Amino acid sequence: MENPFLRQTPGYVESFGSRILVRLPAMADNQRTTDETPGILGSAERVEKPTDEMSTFEATSYFFHRAADRVNLRDEVREVLAGSYRELSVQVKARMDDSKVVVFPGYRIQHNGARGPYKGGVRFHPSVDLGEVRALAALMTWKNALIDVPFGGAKGGVQCDPASLSQGELQTIARRFTSMISYIIGVNRDIPAPDMGTNAQTMAWMMDAYGQQHGHTPGIVTGKPVELGGSPGRDQATGRGVVICAGEAAKRNGKSLDGASVVIQGYGNVGQWTAALAAEEGAKVVAVSDAAGGIYNRQGLDLVRVTEHHKESKSLTEYTEADKVSNDELLELECDILVPAAIQRVIDSRNASNINAKLIVEGANAPTTPVADDVLRDRGITVVPDILANAGGVTVSYFEWVQNIQQFQWEKGQVNEELEKKMSEATAHVFARAEDDKTSLRDAAFDIAVQRVAQADELRGYV
Ligand code: NAD
Repeated sequence: MENPFLRQTPGYVESFGSRILVRLPAMADNQRTTDETPGILGSAERVEKPTDEMSTFEATSYFFHRAADRVNLRDEVREVLAGSYRELSVQVKARMDDSKVVVFPGYRIQHNGARGPYKGGVRFHPSVDLGEVRALAALMTWKNALIDVPFGGAKGGVQCDPASLSQGELQTIARRFTSMISYIIGVNRDIPAPDMGTNAQTMAWMMDAYGQQHGHTPGIVTGKPVELGGSPGRDQATGRGVVICAGEAAKRNGKSLDGASVVIQGYGNVGQWTAALAAEEGAKVVAVSDAAGGIYNRQGLDLVRVTEHHKESKSLTEYTEADKVSNDELLELECDILVPAAIQRVIDSRNASNINAKLIVEGANAPTTPVADDVLRDRGITVVPDILANAGGVTVSYFEWVQNIQQFQWEKGQVNEELEKKMSEATAHVFARAEDDKTSLRDAAFDIAVQRVAQADELRGYV
């Protein structure tokens, strides 16, 4: 179970049976590794029958174990892949604008590094906790393997509400978090990126904070501003990938994006670019939402005006040229394509029977619970799973990392062309596997990804 990436860590590992405790002597006292989890680090009890009460991590584990059964994974390999490789919990202390010091919980979790350096975003959101980050780290392992970029999977997060923080406070949190996790990240070890509540500006602060300790290191994060070594096309990449998947899935059902009605939950990076790029393909975006609620116009929204309004007021709900809908209502609107592009577990057993879309393309991570997934499959609604549909972001993050290592910038056209190639290849592979094995797209995607990661673990001699 030895991992070469750990050998580069300025610390050492102690193994207690199946428990691993990572000790980093250079760490401050207030940084603790998570060693209290019984059994394998970060692994969930296996759940045989899914329920809506499952946590995001239990749901992610449930999909993994089903894939492990289907591909006949050896027990030792299953045990390794069921849990995290390394989990780091940190205190992120920040002095607020009112001079008070607030402590935010922060996490960086590395799930599996067999296929390459750990890679995954950093989320700033009130819901962030160990379990959520664990689930998202595991999903990154499967996503990176499925899209076939040479990375393992990781995720990070700080439990905070970015909407209530000033730019100065956010900068303090980003810098502090970076220095607290700096012992386990590195250009060839673990490369963070933006996720919910973080953006190119956050990555610029993180790069600078890391550079202060280690010298200028643009490849330490991806999703940076283009002016600081970011890749052209990275900001749109996740939305572009969602639209490519939606187009491929529609084509297989004898349809196209042209004229298709689209509903999108979440109007941040993924939601906004999905809307804009789908509209470029001729789709009619009829509803969008943010955390406060949504807007709906059956004839199609004027996206230029919606985006202008959203930029000015930081909200959609005061927009007057459309009807107001709640986030729950929005998910049940009649449409051709539904794109959840906000948070996890929004489609569950309460609303799965009322979904009125023909196709669901998961821009968000883990938006569909396992119970809902079964209902949707039984109802014949095609679901393009998160680990495929939102893989465009990490794909262009990979291109950014390559450009940083080469110290050479690609043209945007080249980035988009390479992205399209990667997304189309992975989509074709998933559709073919689902057809051959008579499974859902999610099952096919997990089967491919789990087999690739297991093979890398075995080839390295970990198991
Ligand atoms: P973002 O912070 O830019 O936008 C999030 C949007 O979701 C905002 O409009 C916010 O108001 C809305 N939102 C937050 N809480 C909500 C709630 N409870 N109900 C409804 N809407 C809510 O985040 P993002 O980067 O667009 O990420 C969105 C999703 O896509 C997340 O699940 C993230 O993990 C996933 N994702 C993002 C990327 C990326 O490159 N940014 C890549 C892959 C996956």
